[in-house]
Amino acid sequence: MRVVVVGAGIVGICTAIELIRQGHQVTVMDAAARPASQASRANAGLLSPGHCFSWAEPGIVSALACAYIKGQDRPRIGAPYSVALFKWLRAFVTQSTPENWKRNSRYALQLAQLSRKIHFSTQDIALASYAGARDGLLYLYKQGEAPSAAELELLEEADEVFQILDRTALRGLEPALSRSECDRFETGMYCPMDAYGDARLYATEAARQAELRGVVFKWNTHVEKLLVRGAQFTGVVAAGESESFDACVVAAGIDAKTLLRPLGYDLMIHPVSGYSLSYQGIRGSRPHHGGVSLSDKIAWSPFGEDRMRFTGFADVGYPNATLERRRFSALESFAQNLCPDIRGLQGERWVGQRPMTPDGLPYLGAGMHVGLFLNCGHGAMGWTMAAATARLTAEVISGCNPTISLAPFRYDRDFC
Ligand SMILES: Cc1cc2nc3c(=O)[nH]c(=O)nc-3n(C[C@H](O)[C@H](O)[C@H](O)COP(=O)(O)OP(=O)(O)OC[C@H]3O[C@@H](n4cnc5c(N)ncnc54)[C@H](O)[C@@H]3O)c2cc1C
Repeated sequence: MRVVVVGAGIVGICTAIELIRQGHQVTVMDAAARPASQASRANAGLLSPGHCFSWAEPGIVSALACAYIKGQDRPRIGAPYSVALFKWLRAFVTQSTPENWKRNSRYALQLAQLSRKIHFSTQDIALASYAGARDGLLYLYKQGEAPSAAELELLEEADEVFQILDRTALRGLEPALSRSECDRFETGMYCPMDAYGDARLYATEAARQAELRGVVFKWNTHVEKLLVRGAQFTGVVAAGESESFDACVVAAGIDAKTLLRPLGYDLMIHPVSGYSLSYQGIRGSRPHHGGVSLSDKIAWSPFGEDRMRFTGFADVGYPNATLERRRFSALESFAQNLCPDIRGLQGERWVGQRPMTPDGLPYLGAGMHVGLFLNCGHGAMGWTMAAATARLTAEVISGCNPTISLAPFRYDRDFC
């Protein structure tokens, strides 16, 4: 089949590789000049089935209200202010009941586990090529905080390996936490099967290999329109010219919503901004493991020999300059506390938008037009889920039963 993939982020590129492996003729179109130019560009790099729980969690509304009242720093809601934003927030709140959270997190974990299996069983992209490491991730908690019983239950139910570490064991595993600046971390959860790697480097290497196998990449090619005849997808209009294809995978991240709207799709994907600070040329010591401080909402990865990346925060919509400054200043001070040897180095700043759905799950599978498929809306977990959602998409296009049922990820699922 002649398939066009719209979008060359981590999701689109993984999809292209899976499609070519299954014998299709594949063209990838992206508005940017190179792979992973939007949300996949400088993410934390965590491949984290051990903590892929839905952000719409029980108690989130009261926790946020409490933070507002106490004047604590909390997620902000920025422009664009619109009916779509209001609908998205309402759906997010609806998804935060214990039952919905559990169901959504269970589906996310299924995708993340399948993704890890595929990612590490296909050996053609070497760990070293994307500064990857498979030695587990640490999730840190301050005094009075701990993973919830429901989270642990979900991990146990899915046979996910984890260890709860006390203060001493935590510092035994990660000596960087022995510094007085990190004294507040009291408990940790270690997930030895989790991993990390630079998603952009991975996408670049995967694109190179895909091209060698025959995938055609069209860069600087904005897809303006998807063409249909009745209920049948027929092709795309890009750079003013139309081109026919048998099938299309929309892997356009945050822009999938705009691209599909004229065809009658009403996707609930909203931008949720995160902040990223990358250092290189670090001389001296760095943390051994990647991890997340759940209290600070900050994640990090020690890429390669001398790099560190710190990312964090979740502001709905786009930040203004004042908020941006504050977020980077908080990231910088966290980074210096965990890794003092970055002092004196200039971190590279980036603000990215997670393509978030209210339930934290992507849109997958067939659309309402024959030949049109969705693989978008991966939110905070696109790198963790990309290999699985690519495989599932290719399976459906090839007419096979998908390894995991795609019913929970339908384009027309109801969030309210
Ligand atoms: C700060 C931050 C930290 C994160 N950390 C992690 C993490 O540690 N682990 C994890 O799993 N996930 C993480 N994420 C989430 C992850 O980065 C995203 O879920 C993932 O990158 C989404 O990938 P994508 O390919 O769907 O979208 P994108 O990477 O945004 O790719 C979409 C592509 O489509 C192209 N495009 C859009 N519209 C068109 C069009 N009309 N025509 C042509 N091309 C088009 C764009 O140019 C773009 O290249 C993080 C995100 C952020 C912002």
